[in-house]
Amino acid sequence: MRFAAAFFDVTLQAIRRPPKFSQLLVICAISGGGIIAYADAKSDHNFDAPGATNKKKLVVLGTGWAGTSFLRNVDTSQYDVKVVSPRNYFLFTPLLPSVTCGTVEPRSIAEPIRNIMRKKGEQIQFWEAECHKIDPVNKKILCRSNICTNSEGKGEFAVDYDYLVVALGAKPNTFNTPGVVENCHFLKEIEDTQRIRRSVMNCFERACLPGLSDEEKRNNLHFVIVGGGPTGVEFAAELHDFVSEDLANLYPTVKDLVKISVIEAGVHILTMFDKRITEFAEQKFQRDGIDVKTNFRVIKVNDKTITMSSGLTGEISVPYGMVVWSTGIGTRPVILDFMKQVGQADRRVLATDEWLRVPNCDGVYALGDCATISQRKVMEDIAAIFRVADKDNSGTLTVKGIKDVLEDICERYPQVELYMKSQQLENFADLFKDASDDALKESKKLDIEVFKKALANVDSQVKMLPATAQVAAQQGNYLAKCFNKMKICEEHPEGPLRIRGSGRHRFHPFGYRHLGQFAPLGGEQTAAQLPGDWVSIGHSSQWLWYSVYASKQVSWRTRFLVVSDWIRRFIYGRDSSCI
Ligand code: FAD
Ligand code: MG
Repeated sequence: MRFAAAFFDVTLQAIRRPPKFSQLLVICAISGGGIIAYADAKSDHNFDAPGATNKKKLVVLGTGWAGTSFLRNVDTSQYDVKVVSPRNYFLFTPLLPSVTCGTVEPRSIAEPIRNIMRKKGEQIQFWEAECHKIDPVNKKILCRSNICTNSEGKGEFAVDYDYLVVALGAKPNTFNTPGVVENCHFLKEIEDTQRIRRSVMNCFERACLPGLSDEEKRNNLHFVIVGGGPTGVEFAAELHDFVSEDLANLYPTVKDLVKISVIEAGVHILTMFDKRITEFAEQKFQRDGIDVKTNFRVIKVNDKTITMSSGLTGEISVPYGMVVWSTGIGTRPVILDFMKQVGQADRRVLATDEWLRVPNCDGVYALGDCATISQRKVMEDIAAIFRVADKDNSGTLTVKGIKDVLEDICERYPQVELYMKSQQLENFADLFKDASDDALKESKKLDIEVFKKALANVDSQVKMLPATAQVAAQQGNYLAKCFNKMKICEEHPEGPLRIRGSGRHRFHPFGYRHLGQFAPLGGEQTAAQLPGDWVSIGHSSQWLWYSVYASKQVSWRTRFLVVSDWIRRFIYGRDSSCI
């Protein structure tokens, strides 16, 4: 299959810019056919001009999970696609913690975006630059490139769009804690992992230098991780494995002085996981000698000590060798600026509707970590919902009448179904049990007050989607499919009934399917929480983790590299060179 794909790629390339053919023409020209050479050059120059101008301009910001998933699935023949991102590669972020300790090498989890674009077989333009301003009024974005300056000495340019897909992720959140930016490492980009890896090795080498007291050595070998979420916990586990499996043999004189601390402001680590996983992780870390400090809030960090406080101990300062800051994400400045322009200045995250559109902003879509879906509440629309169900405009409706539009209501307001599940109600009529004693009779007439009472608590089930690769990738895929059928659905809308307006929505709203999550805990043990609250912890889940992460790679090349890194690590251990 791989060979077939490779063959297909080569064929496509040959069709797009036939090298042999143009070479042939040059030879003909040299042998006396100047006119032919001119014709070839002209057609080459105009290669992407025809057609491209008729197509709508689609600009994608970001080459992360959301942007790449969108690009891989969108039918690029329908649009004039341009991609802007300061990173010319896709990064498989779930394996970043493994890169910090050399279990996996950096290039094994990066796939050049141009490789991905080439496979599409269509002309897509990529510009390595950062968008620093979105101008929704004039439908353009302003970009700045760090690698090029034009004749005016600036690497600035503007790009017009008809559709803009904003998928530029988030930045680490420091909560404005003093000294964090200057003294801590983040774990977000590939450069961060390389800095962390070097810093760990420097701490060990420094501790081995002559003339240091035991206390100084101990301070140098104190590794602090702020944030007990999945990333912080996975990094702590990875570091512990690196120290105990590899470095302990190489640095026998200082191995007993190493200390790893995880500082968490909440009561537990891994709070987004099932309680069984949280408990197991805390117990395992205790057995491994990883110091988990819960209920501690970091107040400041200077170049030698980290200061934190808790209700029990008050303020304490601890010396450290290296701090990794992993306390969640914040909004990028360009998004904050955009939010001000579209009337969302009072929000913390850019909100979209259920179709990933930015409200009041023609042609702009936002997905992944940089945005959140603001689910319309049932109670905001209760009168309109009643009107839609009350087809004969009598001011009352029957359970049977509601059933006719139930599918549309459940699609438009997924919280209805979630609420029914949470209350273990089998069908919609059961919702009216308390509101009206005999509502179960399908012909019983209900008025708006009964209707309101029955649905009063439904909105408690509205949930924000987590900022994960899974959500971002599914959103990218969903939006691409919408773009692919934009024309068809204009004539034949497929979405649910419009509750406030008339007719149907053009597309189905975005629906998230949770496939489960992993928490690698070190020592070849992983906790897995799969749909249906199925929990598995231990060595078998580690194998599941290996197979899922190998299969989720975006290319066979990175899949091969990641698997060979794992094998290399099994055979030779992790490399401790201070490169
Ligand atoms: P990103 O993937 O961050 O991509 C943003 C893109 O936008 C990048 O290409 C960036 O260069 C570009 N960009 C930034 N600024 C600009 C600009 N001004 N103009 C243009 N482009 C710009 N999720 C999981 O589901 N499972 C996991 O196991 C998991 N593990 C993780 C481990 C780590 C260490 C980290 C950091 C995250 C992890 N996540 C995981 C979360 C996941 O990586 C994010 O939710 C996901 O990357 C979000 O995708 P995105 O496309 O919104 O943003
Ligand atoms: Mg009626």
